[in-house]
Amino acid sequence: MMGWRDLPIGGVPPLTSLEYKTGDWKVFMPKIDTSKCTKCGLCWMYCPDSAIIWDGEGYPKPNYEYCKGCGICANECPVKAIEMVR
Ligand code: SF4
Ligand code: SF4
Repeated sequence: MMGWRDLPIGGVPPLTSLEYKTGDWKVFMPKIDTSKCTKCGLCWMYCPDSAIIWDGEGYPKPNYEYCKGCGICANECPVKAIEMVR
């Protein structure tokens, strides 16, 4: 491990964000009910971590390796198709 004086500005080496599985931080996770989803894309637009991806049928799908469980997607979904579960 590097000493703190050796760390680059910003704290982590550049171009390594994919290696940090920030999804480990979450306590709650979004579950999407595709029977309610209208594929509007608002959850994708509002996710601060770009953790919403799309499945083969055009429905949003959380990428749980990077989703931090903030719940913004559930808050913004206009048809309440996203539930945050422990
Ligand atoms: S809970 Fe937060 S981080 Fe996870 S998909 Fe929703 S908006 Fe993105
Ligand atoms: S915001 Fe809700 S309705 Fe819109 S794509 Fe996301 S889950 Fe589906």
